[in-house]
Amino acid sequence: MSAVELREISRVFGTVRALDKIDLAIAEGEFFAMLGPSGSGKTTSLRLIAGFEQPSSGAVRIFGEDVTGVPPYRRAVNTVFQDYALFPHMSVLDNVAYSLMLRKVAGPERHRRAEAALEMVRLGGYGARKPGQLSGGQRQRVALARAIVNRPKVLLLDEPLGALDLKLREEMQEELKSLQRTLGITFVFVTHDQGEALSMADRVAVFDTGRVAQVGTPEEIYRRPASRFVASFVGSSNILPPDFTEAVTGQRRWASLRPEAITVTTLGEALRGRIVTRSFLGATTRLGIELPDGTKIHASVPAGQSLPADGQVGLNFPREALHLMEAAT
Ligand code: ATP
Repeated sequence: MSAVELREISRVFGTVRALDKIDLAIAEGEFFAMLGPSGSGKTTSLRLIAGFEQPSSGAVRIFGEDVTGVPPYRRAVNTVFQDYALFPHMSVLDNVAYSLMLRKVAGPERHRRAEAALEMVRLGGYGARKPGQLSGGQRQRVALARAIVNRPKVLLLDEPLGALDLKLREEMQEELKSLQRTLGITFVFVTHDQGEALSMADRVAVFDTGRVAQVGTPEEIYRRPASRFVASFVGSSNILPPDFTEAVTGQRRWASLRPEAITVTTLGEALRGRIVTRSFLGATTRLGIELPDGTKIHASVPAGQSLPADGQVGLNFPREALHLMEAAT
């Protein structure tokens, strides 16, 4: 049974079709990312699971139960919002204990559980402070503690790291992952950051204007993108036109080719080109290479590799590294 299932969900706002018949099944215990550009429908999907939004058509199931029409507080899910939405006048401990108070959990038990949740996010001892006396990363952890205090079966996270600077983001990515493993609950998070989705998630759904363009493991999404949209949104792969692919494989299809799969040599390869750009990236150098027909290819080579002064090089790659995309266009 799936932890969360969206079945033929559409959501229309006036003339905008925010979601167009999407199907998704998220497994129990999975760390699942919804990735896509702004306006592609990720947040709407998350809000439908939370119950803040109702579908125009289709059904939402949580652990097999049809929750369409069930209000948020009756669902076994909790949400961490991007702005954290902490109460500024309450102590950290009371913020975390708040939902337990609403559920009429007795004082001592409430505080014990709130303390335990703060320990889990490494904020033991911070309970007496006010949110204003914490750093951004600590506030984010309070929001997490508050969301896990009543042990939801599914935790929904809307761009949870969006407000943090890069270093803190990377730290929190690791912490979120280990928290998810410790708790063993299903995490569903929304992000428009490819690196974040690929590094954290067990599986990723890539959204494109109200539809799910592809669902797969980070490796599948990166190595075998289903369409040009996925390949270009997810990253640095070369997207090669049908003319190129036909010459190499005999099939007229769009293809993707990862820059690190290409070997750049000074030998007489069948495929030749001219280096037009070089970017130093530390351990590797990213080369922009123009082929005789004008096609531009990026290749990633070890930083120390010597390259000819005239920029004339041969290119080689294993045939299986050229991934033919399913979509015809
Ligand atoms: P972002 O990354 O910018 O948050 P998103 O992928 O989460 O984008 P959604 O917020 O789900 O996208 O929005 C999908 C589409 O639905 C957008 O075109 C948006 O303008 C529209 N939309 C969302 N909520 C509403 C609403 N309450 N009323 C009208 N249109 C809405």
